[in-house]
Amino acid sequence: MVPGKGPKDAKIVFVGEAPGVDEERLGEPFIGASGNLLNDMLAKAGIDRNACYLTNVMKIRPPNNDFGVFYVDRNRIQPTPQLLDGITYLYKEIRSIRPNVICTLGSEALRAVTNRRNISSWRGSILSSPLGKVVPTYHPAYILRMYGDRPVTELDLRRVAREANSPNIVQQQFLFEINPQFSRVLEFLRTRPPRISVDIESTRNMVRCIGIADSPTHAICIPFIAKPYEIKPGDVTLFLEQSAGSSAPTNSRWSHDEEYAILSEMDKLFRDPSVQKVFQNFPYDSTVLSQEFGFEFRNYYLDTLNAQHTSYPELPKALDFQASIHTRIPYWSGYDVTSDTETWTYNCYDCCATYELSQVHEKAMASLGVDEFYFSHVHPSISSFTRGQNRGILIDQDLRSKLASEAEARIEDAKAQIKTLTGSDLNPNSSKQMQEFFCGTLKLQVTPKKDPKTKEYKISMDEETLLKLKKKYPQHSSIIDFCLTYRENVKMIATFLKGDLHNGRFYTSFNLSGTQTGRISASTPIIYDGKGGNIQQVHRGELRRIFISDPGWSLIKSDLSQADFRVVMWIARVSKLIERLNDPSFDIHRWNAAHNIFRCEESQVTKDMRTRAKASVHGSNYGMGPDKSAKLYSLTFKEAQELQELYHAAIPEIRGVYWPEIQAQLMASRVLTTPLGRRRLFMGRWGDDLFRQAYAFQPQAVVGDIINRAYTLGDELFDENECHPLLQVHDEIVWHCRDDRIDTYVPKIRRLMEYPIKFPNVEIPLVIPVEISVGKNWFDQKAI
Ligand code: URA
Repeated sequence: MVPGKGPKDAKIVFVGEAPGVDEERLGEPFIGASGNLLNDMLAKAGIDRNACYLTNVMKIRPPNNDFGVFYVDRNRIQPTPQLLDGITYLYKEIRSIRPNVICTLGSEALRAVTNRRNISSWRGSILSSPLGKVVPTYHPAYILRMYGDRPVTELDLRRVAREANSPNIVQQQFLFEINPQFSRVLEFLRTRPPRISVDIESTRNMVRCIGIADSPTHAICIPFIAKPYEIKPGDVTLFLEQSAGSSAPTNSRWSHDEEYAILSEMDKLFRDPSVQKVFQNFPYDSTVLSQEFGFEFRNYYLDTLNAQHTSYPELPKALDFQASIHTRIPYWSGYDVTSDTETWTYNCYDCCATYELSQVHEKAMASLGVDEFYFSHVHPSISSFTRGQNRGILIDQDLRSKLASEAEARIEDAKAQIKTLTGSDLNPNSSKQMQEFFCGTLKLQVTPKKDPKTKEYKISMDEETLLKLKKKYPQHSSIIDFCLTYRENVKMIATFLKGDLHNGRFYTSFNLSGTQTGRISASTPIIYDGKGGNIQQVHRGELRRIFISDPGWSLIKSDLSQADFRVVMWIARVSKLIERLNDPSFDIHRWNAAHNIFRCEESQVTKDMRTRAKASVHGSNYGMGPDKSAKLYSLTFKEAQELQELYHAAIPEIRGVYWPEIQAQLMASRVLTTPLGRRRLFMGRWGDDLFRQAYAFQPQAVVGDIINRAYTLGDELFDENECHPLLQVHDEIVWHCRDDRIDTYVPKIRRLMEYPIKFPNVEIPLVIPVEISVGKNWFDQKAI
């Protein structure tokens, strides 16, 4: 038995799961590894552990620390009588203390105290229970495995500390108008509040309802479709899609005239520049609304998703997560999508949360000093990238089909070869079959790999493993090659060569806040029925030929040259290179090969020598170990190590200036800020991994921000009937330009991309040279 421990008049009670080995031995809760971590986190949150009461749902240790034994079934649905007794006892225990707040740690405690499941949804909420106020958070044992969630847990604990001052639950009173009358809708839409937040719910790509909040506690949900799950294929749901006077479309909420009047009023409100509009993820909502109703938004003021990312780039951005740390609204997202009432209510919650978060973010950004960066840099980019992604890029469909047939032929060939070599129909995409064949039939030794998510060691049959096997067992290299060819082609067909297109174009979705460095990420769009894909996965090879310009137009490619590297030289103040680097013809890898590695004239450096030199640079700047760089460039460990040492000897400022300065900044505040104003608070575990992320941050962020700035200004300043940005991939922007205007726009593009940046303590500003080329497709390009 490990009883609860702490003062009987504690203001805070912590509830864990069950004692572990150490607790059992010493008869005290939370004194093992979990307990130590809990102590650290409590100290950070300003909570005195000795003033708290700590206990567990079960007071005895389950065999193998498996809490599942307290359930009748494997899925932990039905508790055993022993667990029910434990919970009854826990209730008595907590009632005798009458704390101001109960903090449940992990899912079992959450369930025992509040009868709720899913800790990741409910953590951070302020809940009421028969025992009093509850704030759930993660269990420290989980944090030991998933360290990335530690900052969130610490934020929850700070909330616990604040809630400990009183037993009362202070919650906003919401006024939600769901399913309002026609006259009320018009009345609302004619008001002109200073700010509104807008959010839509859609089903099967139809706008189901539009919610608007005009304060953090008041929202209206205007439905357009009722009972969407009863709609049959081919049914019409909106009157606007039909002509006036025709019979009622299925499930439309309004008559034709009503719908017309509502949409007209809404359009006026959205276009009214005196009303600020805030969104959580504008690119999605605005695109759906513009496609379905032709709405446009003036005075789009703030996006809570991107504001969250600007202030806290390492924290999640989902609305419910943001609400759990920045507002007092308890988790609301678990609802039944087939219920209209629940969906409409949820829509109102989303709007009010977005409204309140817009106020929270304004204040937070100002106090962190990133408000100017957000409003002048991040925010304008959202509209520009939204416009850019909605243009799509034309596809050469004949060529695409041809490439698809060629890829299919390669797949068939690989299949046939595999059959001849193995005598079976081995499917290279089935990890199970591959394991059976390579480890079972051929008896090859495969070292298990650590899964970065679950941290478990497992046999993997991924590309890296296969390449290793190929090296180790050269006698099997041809079969491995055929497996890899098969996989590569199946993937290429599935991602780029098959799928339907929308209007003959390929669409991708850009996410401005997709990475912690500030570089954008891309993904398959949810709009356009998901037709399209992740443009960043298209390699530099010939596949790029299928992406073409419209007739009478060309694609201008502008690519920043050796961009990250140049930034490193400026941050590290490598004066001997800074002077040369502003010369666009200077090639760093050639220089490195000639002077540091092969000790020859620059003119004598071959392509192969240059590639080896590149291997020494790449990664060395950011502290990548020789093991990784060996893998990346197929070198031996020793070769990689030597190359790195030569590089560091030639540029001692990397280890001598750059790294120590970054470490000192991390030590002082864990915050790094780029010359363009992007800020990142590093929350990870102290150590080499954190340092490596920090070394890479500024170079990557600066390059990304130069590119995003050029994309946005090009979108805003150019006449879009002549030239506009289309794609952003790696360090390049692809522009779409009318043939007869290329000469005018190339210098403009160059000026936008070659934006000078001043670094502290370096006289010469950094200008990353841009390489520009033009062509009718994305592959066959002529340098300018
Ligand atoms: N984990 C728990 O849930 N409780 C303890 O007391 C220790 C570890």
